[in-house]
Amino acid sequence: MTKGYRILVIEDEQAIREGLSDVLIYHGYAVDSAATGAEGLNKALSGRFDLILLDIMLPGIDGYEICNRIRAEDRRQPIIMLTARGADEDVIRGLKLGADDYVAKPFSIQQLVLRIQAVLRRSQAGMEQARTISLPNVEIDTENLSGVGKNGDIVFTRREIEVLAYLAENSDRPVPREELLAKVWGYARNLDIETRTVDIHIAKIRRKIEPEPKEPRNLVTVRGAGYRLLTEG
Ligand code: CA
Repeated sequence: MTKGYRILVIEDEQAIREGLSDVLIYHGYAVDSAATGAEGLNKALSGRFDLILLDIMLPGIDGYEICNRIRAEDRRQPIIMLTARGADEDVIRGLKLGADDYVAKPFSIQQLVLRIQAVLRRSQAGMEQARTISLPNVEIDTENLSGVGKNGDIVFTRREIEVLAYLAENSDRPVPREELLAKVWGYARNLDIETRTVDIHIAKIRRKIEPEPKEPRNLVTVRGAGYRLLTEG
């Protein structure tokens, strides 16, 4: 299933960059790499890659800036950040900028490959979800990653749409954070940083779809049970 996917590795440390490239090629991916932020950004913006592995600490343009610039051009481009272990703030900042996922260094190859497969699988599956989601004040177009609300046009990231689509499919009940992590992110584990990942995305979505994000009416919290999307019809 990995055949033909093209991955860009943006990493300044030569040993990691070359090691990663070798491993990914071994697993059947086509790999290109960049050793600096500028080169990485240039290649990333070419739009030729199914997935980008993005180191945060890079000379010149850092990983955050690259993530930001890619998202400004292409909200669907799958991006996995490479972060230092324990650097939760880095993870949160990257996710807020629109990265799909992260892997903490030093990572196991098996873990990395599983994350890559999960992100690629979701980016392929994204086309199959319901075309529109109707909320009391918002109309969401899942295919175009867009919406129209009281205050005009809304732009979503792919991950935000995945969360909304899953909640919409299960709108008859609250969905626990652990279930969102398992179904949308593909995480079997349940670490604190990962449940916070869900909360970060819910907060971002609320800022977009709620007239009063602090008093949500579309995407509500059911205490002790999870999040529930109140769809119309
Ligand atoms: Ca680095």
